[in-house]
Amino acid sequence: MDKIISLCKRRGFVYPASEIYGGFANAYDFGPLGSQLKKNIKDYWWKKFVIGEDNIVGLDSAIIQNPKTWEASGHLNSFTDPLVECKKCHQRFRVDHVQEVKTKMAEGGVAANAVMGSLDKLGMTKEMTSMVLCTAGGEHDFSEAREFNLMFKTFVGVTDDSSSVAYMRPETAQGIFLNFKNVIQSTRVKPPFGIAQIGKSFRNEITPGNFIFRTREFEQMEIEFFIEPNPEESKKWYEYWIEKAKEFYLELGIKSENLSIRAHDEKELSFYSIGTSDVEYKFPFGVSELGGIAQRTDYDLSQHEKVSGLDLKFFDETMGSKYLPYVVEPALGVDRAALAILTDAFDESDGSDGRAEGEITLRLNPKVAPIKVAVFPLIKKEGLPEIAREIVAKLKKSGITTYYDESGSVGRRYRRQDEIGTPWCITVDFDTLADKTATLRDRDSMTQERINIDEIVSQIEGKLR
Ligand code: ATP
Repeated sequence: MDKIISLCKRRGFVYPASEIYGGFANAYDFGPLGSQLKKNIKDYWWKKFVIGEDNIVGLDSAIIQNPKTWEASGHLNSFTDPLVECKKCHQRFRVDHVQEVKTKMAEGGVAANAVMGSLDKLGMTKEMTSMVLCTAGGEHDFSEAREFNLMFKTFVGVTDDSSSVAYMRPETAQGIFLNFKNVIQSTRVKPPFGIAQIGKSFRNEITPGNFIFRTREFEQMEIEFFIEPNPEESKKWYEYWIEKAKEFYLELGIKSENLSIRAHDEKELSFYSIGTSDVEYKFPFGVSELGGIAQRTDYDLSQHEKVSGLDLKFFDETMGSKYLPYVVEPALGVDRAALAILTDAFDESDGSDGRAEGEITLRLNPKVAPIKVAVFPLIKKEGLPEIAREIVAKLKKSGITTYYDESGSVGRRYRRQDEIGTPWCITVDFDTLADKTATLRDRDSMTQERINIDEIVSQIEGKLR
């Protein structure tokens, strides 16, 4: 990870946030290359699902909604106890529960560094024991206690009393449910259909970490897919969306051997879910979630019906009856996708493959590569820069991200591009003056071919397709 983090900073993918003020823990800014990488991921998702699938429409809802939203969704009531978290095993406990156990131990004359046997003698349950002994060994190393609600609170308007409290959304999904009726009425879609949204979400995570894997501000790409309300239909679309989510990551260039699907067991399932699976990636810090596909039944819509007092049912004209649809939700994270893509593409040479030892190539799929083409004049004179700049202008005009570089040897310029994952480089040389051809060099095969400069745009467009 350290090498990836350092490359990200050095080349402008990801910077630590607020660096000039000493940083801001676990917050990151995406630089010129990182912001383009994220945009490419989001654009591809939108293209594949909103444009590519039948029956999926887009949405861009507000981040701060009426607080009743979170009362209905259950977010307001969950996680409102003061919690402590063990920094070693990451288990969270309610402070009052830990206190009860400590009191019991003090009364029983058992020291803080208790061992299993002495706790058994006090008649402690397994759960109580787990508040004393850390699964990582020894005692827990608890964080400060905090009144924990995962939502960020804010105030709307000029007063800052309880009447103006609002929340930053912890998921984009609820904005979709709030607009379910609007979308049906304005677009005439009918189940099975989906509403898709990309946007920032905010969670006051107790344990952010692993670079951009878990942060307090992140981006999600979510679809709420509305279907007829029965478990068979739900299962069918659940399987469909697991496959589609996996396909999405593969198409972004992630190696299939690093991807896996893990179904949640009973204990892990949200109380309203009848089945959830995570798409996981083999990160350097362990196999972890990239995205989740959940069968949410009609939980959210029925909650919003209850709290709003409105009828949110879909009227099925062919059946002549109305119902609240079930929902299957593929929820993917943009930042985690970016991290998986960078990790997967990172290839450092050991010196045995024609590259120098320590040389880094980011083998990014051209779809997500921030820069698609770099154009170099062999030297800075004799009219070569002018021709190179003309090629750059043509590529840019066609919407292809292009970089012009005239400094240093061509070999060094290639290496600079390899390190940021640019798939193709074009070099304009003296032959260009004579025959209007230039060298097109491929990042992965390192092969070079001569192509006519008038065909560069169409050739690159062809490769990108
Ligand atoms: P985790 O178990 O890792 O906390 P989650 O199951 O709570 O994640 P979901 O609520 O299913 O996450 O959110 C969908 C996706 O949003 C996640 O798969 C992940 O890609 C992204 N996501 C959620 N929380 C964060 C976070 N704190 N930082 C970055 N991405 C996140």
